Amino acid sequence: MCDFDGTIALDDVTDALLSRFALPEWEAIEARWRDGAIGSRECMTAQIALIDASLDEVDAALDALPIDPAFPGFVAEAQRRGMAVQVVSDGLDYAIRRILARHGLGDLPVRANRLLHDGERGWQLNSPHADVACAAASGTCKCAIARGHEKVLMIGDGQSDFCVAGIADYVFAKKKLISHCRRAGIPHRTIVDFSDACALLDTLPERLGDTFPELFPLRVHLA
Ligand SMILES: [Mg+2]
Ligand SMILES: [Zn+2]
Repeated sequence: MCDFDGTIALDDVTDALLSRFALPEWEAIEARWRDGAIGSRECMTAQIALIDASLDEVDAALDALPIDPAFPGFVAEAQRRGMAVQVVSDGLDYAIRRILARHGLGDLPVRANRLLHDGERGWQLNSPHADVACAAASGTCKCAIARGHEKVLMIGDGQSDFCVAGIADYVFAKKKLISHCRRAGIPHRTIVDFSDACALLDTLPERLGDTFPELFPLRVHLA
């Protein structure tokens, strides 16, 4: 499971769209999320409704956003090892798919919030992967998605990855997720980018989809 914003994409795509196209109230909503008053789902639903932009304008903005140049190579290498790479994001599905397609990765499964365009200049968000039981109150509950898989390698950088980091079998962490893992005592490997993640694949069992009774407990193995 790979996070998108800040992990695959170098910037936060939602913030890039909001700062360019949203009415200025989006920042006050962001501050309420930062203070913990609201979850990311409530925050983004309100913010996306403040965007005033045509589809062409949004597409042009998305087409200017860079990704980690090592990500396509990481995907190829992980898939060669039998891993089912998927993007699991609390960001915007339309944006993620468009950016990935530009890098020849349009076939990667993406689970994220759904960005809907009204045909003119209005935008809305809904969250098909939300889980009311998740304390994180995210739009996409990554821990609920992870529970559907036998073995999970989570690669992420930020707050939307906190809920899943505690239950994933392996965590490759960058930025804010590193300090979260340290605070919470979650075994992890630190990465700067996907070239590090690619090199660390050698530390994992050959086929992540299989069970590895000989490698228990994996957390000790990684620590
Ligand atoms: Mg992120
Ligand atoms: Zn969750």
